[in-house]
Amino acid sequence: MPEFVTLSCPSCGAKLQIGSHVDRFACSHCGNEHVVQRDGGIVSLAPVIEQIKQVQSGVDKTASELAIARLKEEIQEIRRSMPDTSNEGCLAKVGMGLSGIAMFACIGGIMTGDGSTIAMAVVVSLIMFAVGVWLGLKEDQNKNARLKPYREAIAEKENEIERHKKLVNLD
Ligand SMILES: [Zn+2]
Repeated sequence: MPEFVTLSCPSCGAKLQIGSHVDRFACSHCGNEHVVQRDGGIVSLAPVIEQIKQVQSGVDKTASELAIARLKEEIQEIRRSMPDTSNEGCLAKVGMGLSGIAMFACIGGIMTGDGSTIAMAVVVSLIMFAVGVWLGLKEDQNKNARLKPYREAIAEKENEIERHKKLVNLD
């Protein structure tokens, strides 16, 4: 191996004589620091800043991967702490059920030819139906209002995961 290799500075293009045992040096023309990379027999120069960047992006990547895992865990945690709303909507179902019963009474009235039973059954059926629909809407509103903060928190964390995913896939 020769004692010196001649390379041009990647920053300013000046011809540089580099000793065979030197790993790192500053260009005598522009002052930029470079790392001497010896890959097999090939000697090349890389600005120190780029090396730092590579290390830095590696660090960011690991941090993002950790952040994604943490955020996913947090989303699971939120899902677990969400209130159970599976029983909500039952009042609406009761209303609809009563409406159905009233309709049967209406059919009974038709079969027995009892006019007042028919009229009453129709009225009750319509009222129960309206009550059922109203309760259903009300219960849906309550349910959504209760779940809203949880859903928003999850959406926020999902956005954050997307941002980190982009960072991880940068290179
Ligand atoms: Zn230079």
